[in-house]
Amino acid sequence: MQIEPQAFDRVLSSMCTKPHPVAREAAERFLATNPGDPGTYPTISALEEEAIATLGEIAGLEEPAGYVASGGTEANIQAVRIARERAQTRRPTVVMPASAHFSFRKAADVLGVDLCVVPTDDSHRIDLEAVRSAVDADTAMVVAVAGTTEYGRVDPIPELGEIARSVDALLHVDAAWGGFVLPFTDFEWHFGHAPVDTMTIDPHKMGQAAVPAGGLLVRDSDLLDELAVDTPYLESTSQATLTGTRSGAGVASAVAAMEELWPAGYRSQYVRSQNNAEWLADVLEKRGYEVVEPTLPLVAADVPESTFEALRAEGWRISRTATGELRVVCMPHVSREMLASFVADLDRLEVR
Ligand code: PLP
Repeated sequence: MQIEPQAFDRVLSSMCTKPHPVAREAAERFLATNPGDPGTYPTISALEEEAIATLGEIAGLEEPAGYVASGGTEANIQAVRIARERAQTRRPTVVMPASAHFSFRKAADVLGVDLCVVPTDDSHRIDLEAVRSAVDADTAMVVAVAGTTEYGRVDPIPELGEIARSVDALLHVDAAWGGFVLPFTDFEWHFGHAPVDTMTIDPHKMGQAAVPAGGLLVRDSDLLDELAVDTPYLESTSQATLTGTRSGAGVASAVAAMEELWPAGYRSQYVRSQNNAEWLADVLEKRGYEVVEPTLPLVAADVPESTFEALRAEGWRISRTATGELRVVCMPHVSREMLASFVADLDRLEVR
């Protein structure tokens, strides 16, 4: 097959990126291994423990437990599944912000739990008063997002932890995208900052690993037991993952990327991405667009639909928020030159 994969040189909408060279090489080497069967594939299984140890260090988790999932969707579904299994009610409900990723809708569908969607405030963060009124004895889980998909916002996680505890619910933090930049900010987001029970943190996003490498972390390995099923025909005796057979490529590439980049490489990447986001926000503001300030490396701006479509026709891979703003995610492959070329096209194609 001679078809070239998609190039990254005009991709501004994706939350994934070009894998780091060491991550790509590790993915290729471990492609045919299956961490879903650790008795038969012990090497990749040991690497998965390493991956969880480092993810735990990044997320302030003292006794790391979890696994490398196929992505944030699987990790979020599994977190909801843990909460459902723990719940003492027959009608478990998940309370989450309107900004939460659509994977929670899949979780609710598949697991038969109710969702209670709480609005966000003017700063695009969950409205705490609305959460206080929403929780009750049926609340199995409160979801906080640490780096929202549309605006890169971080919910007030310590406060959400208190609310979750007041009704004996679990607190889940979705740091699928934000988890590899937040360690270099002042946000309170991780297990050490709040009573977080479960977390999604994906190496295949800002972590620069190859797809598929998501991460599910749990405060206590007992929580993982809620997911475990017996595995009679495998060499190992139980499995907590949602998928059965899974490629070791994601696991190996996550370990390779984190070994190479944590912490210094991720720190310099965060600084570069954040500077790029602030530069772009500034440039767009000067041109009169309404811009949502990038608290993390993600810019949203009120660019008219016709301009947006003209930019897409030029090959720019861009997307819009639910309310129609252009969003640009400053991932590691997004350079200043790329953004400058995007702005030049914007100036040329601008329809006001
Ligand atoms: N959570 C957040 C905050 C996300 O931004 C995304 C995807 O962008 C996901 C979860 C889902 O991750 P995946 O697409 O890897 O399943």
